[in-house]
Amino acid sequence: MIFGGKKSKLAQLCAEIVGQAEDAVVVIDSSHRIVLFNAGAEEMFGYTGKEAVGERLDMLMPERFQLQHDAMIDEFGAGSFDAKSSNRRNRQIYGRRKDGNEFVASAQIMRLGDKTSRYYAALFRDISQNKRTEEELLRLAATDPLTGAYNRREFTIMAEREALRSHRYHHPLSLMMLDLDHFKRLNDSFGHSAGDKVLQRFTTLCCNTLRNVDIFGRWGGEEFVALLPETDIEGASIIAERLRKIISENILSYNDHKITFTASIGVAQYKDGETTIDGPLGRTDSAVFDAKKAGRNRISVFRN
Ligand code: GH3
Ligand code: MG
Ligand code: MG
Repeated sequence: MIFGGKKSKLAQLCAEIVGQAEDAVVVIDSSHRIVLFNAGAEEMFGYTGKEAVGERLDMLMPERFQLQHDAMIDEFGAGSFDAKSSNRRNRQIYGRRKDGNEFVASAQIMRLGDKTSRYYAALFRDISQNKRTEEELLRLAATDPLTGAYNRREFTIMAEREALRSHRYHHPLSLMMLDLDHFKRLNDSFGHSAGDKVLQRFTTLCCNTLRNVDIFGRWGGEEFVALLPETDIEGASIIAERLRKIISENILSYNDHKITFTASIGVAQYKDGETTIDGPLGRTDSAVFDAKKAGRNRISVFRN
C-alpha cells in the first residue's frame, strides 16, 4: 500500500474507513476478546460497541462453532496455515445476532500485529440474502414450475445416484411410470388450465401417498415417474395399486365442474447391476402401454 501523506493522517483515514464501512469489522486480541466493533458490526450483530468490546468473540457465533473457532484462531495465530492464501482467509461463517437469530456471512480474516502483540480482524458481510437466492435458483433448476415435482434432468441424476447405492448394498429398487388417461380429452372438455390444475392435484396426491424416501418427478407432459428405494416389484405393485385407487377416487372442483381423472401405471424393478434409468424406464413404458391397451385406470407390472 502506498500513501502520499503523513503516517498519522493515514491512521486517521483508516479509522474513518472502518467507522463508515457497511461491512462489519471486528478486531480481537490474543485472548479472543473484542477490542474493536464498528458501526457495521453493531448493525449486523445487534450489539452496541459498548456491549461488545471486552467480551469474548464467542458471543457473535452459534455455540456449536465456538470450540472449533477457538482452535482455528490459535492455529492461525501460530502461523500454521498461510494467512495469505485467500481460500483460508475467506470463509463462510454462521453468525449469531443478539436476538439469537443466525445468519450466514462471508468473513475475511486477518492476522495483525506481531508475536508480542497479536490481534485478529474479521470483515463480515451478510450473505443470507445471496444464500436464499442461490437456494431458490437451485430449486428452480431442479423442479418443474407447474407441479413442483423434480424435472426430468434432476430425476435422472437422483435416480442414478440411488441406483448406484442400491447396487452397492444389493438392495431392491423399483421404478413406476404414471401416465394420465385421456388427458387430451380432459383438456378439450374443461380447458387447458383445468388440465394444469389436475396435474397439480395429481402431484399432490402422489407425493402425499409416497414415502419420504421415494423420489417423484415429472418426466414430461402428463407423464410422471416415481423411484422407490428398498422396494422390490411386489412392494412397488402394492404402492402402485394404492396410488391408482387414490387418484381415481379423487374429485377436483374446478369452476362449476367436478373433475375426476385416472392414471395408468407401469411398474418395473431394476435388474442387478443396472445403474442407469434407461432399462427400467423402457420396461415401465412398455408396462404403461399394456395398461392402456387393457383399458386404462390400471397398473401393469413388468416381470424381468
Ligand atoms: P392416453 O390415455 O392414451 O395417455 O391419452 P392422452 O390423451 O393422455 O395422451 P396424449 O399423449 O394423446 O395426450 C397428452 C396430452 O397432455 C396432450 C397435451 O396437450 C397434454 N399436456 C401435456 N402437458 C400439459 C400441461 O402442462 N398442461 C396441460 N393442461 N396439458 C398438458
Ligand atoms: Mg396420457
Ligand atoms: Mg403420455
